[in-house]
Order: sequence, then C-alpha cells, then structure tokens
Amino acid sequence: MSDHRPLKEYRDKRCFSRSPEPDDKGRRPGSEPIFVIQQHGARTLHYDFRLEVAGVLKSWAVPKGPATDPKEKRLAVPTEDHPLDYADFEGVIPPGEYGAGAVVVWDQGVYRNLTAKKGKPLSMEEGLAHGHVKVWLEGRKLRGGYALNRFKTGKDEAWLLVKVDDELADPTRDPVKTEPQSVLSGRTLEEVAAEG
Ligand code: MN
Repeated sequence: MSDHRPLKEYRDKRCFSRSPEPDDKGRRPGSEPIFVIQQHGARTLHYDFRLEVAGVLKSWAVPKGPATDPKEKRLAVPTEDHPLDYADFEGVIPPGEYGAGAVVVWDQGVYRNLTAKKGKPLSMEEGLAHGHVKVWLEGRKLRGGYALNRFKTGKDEAWLLVKVDDELADPTRDPVKTEPQSVLSGRTLEEVAAEG
C-alpha cells in the first residue's frame, strides 16, 4: 500500500478526457479526516471503502459492503490511492474505461483514528504499515468503530473490515440492503446508471 508517488497509479490507470472521474483538483484536507464509501457497479459489484490519510484516500474494495453486525467479517482488497476530490464523485465510468460502470456515494462523513498497539496510540500511517487500523466513523449510514485487519500480504494482500462491538453495533440492521440510495443525490446505482 505504500507508494512513493501518491496518485501515480490512480492517474496511470485512467484517461481523464474519457472518464468523468476527477484528476486531483487540489482539494485540501479539512479540520477532520473524511471517509467515503462508494457503491460501484463495475464488472463485479462492490463497495469502495476510502479513508483520508496524509492527503489521499486510502482505498479498499469490499465485495459485500460494510456490516453493522460485529460478527460479520467483510473481505477488503486494497486498491490504489485516490485523490480527496474523489469523495464526491458520482456518475458513470464509460464502457471500455478502467472500472467501467456506475458509482454512487453510498456513505460519507468524517472519522477519528482510534488505532493503538499495546495501549499506545498509533498514527494512521503506522497502523496501515502494521496491518491494523481502528477508526470511529461519523457517517449518515455508518457510525461507530470499525477495524481493518490485514490477514494476507504480498500480491494477494487482503484485509478484513469488521464492525467493532460497541454501542453502535447493530446486528438487526443491514444498510447495504435497506439503504441503497446515494447520500449526495438520493439516487440508486440503477438510477445513476440510467441517467449518467
Ligand atoms: Mn471500485
């Protein structure tokens, strides 16, 4: 996940004259770091979970999306860093382009870093390097603690996204199923796909 040239991989994979996705338009970090979850109807439907770290969005593709039940472990496969401007991207990536398909902003908000090791707080960068981060999300659909734990390294690097068992854990909810609409436009993935 470490990249000496942040966003190079993001740019190399895309052609900004053909894809409506943003190049880095220079959005600067605010007072609190942001997170965003984008539902992405690519070849395989997934949810892109992104956390602002050091001026970029660290990203994981989560095939089943996030859960609110702490017993549900969700596979999260790291993908390239995205620019902060990507947090508001919603639209259709045209056929033939990288990641072709519709994207909706499924949830968005700010987060706090709760990562620690043996009781000592770690920065997000330190946590990512160690393969463990814990964050407190303040989103519209997701709130409370979430942990990301790396369980496989190398070219098949893989993590698990898990709801922390705190007062906001709720096994009776399943927002991926019951709250599909975009938090920006109120549209579903199907509506975005149809309207562009
Ligand atoms: Mn994606």
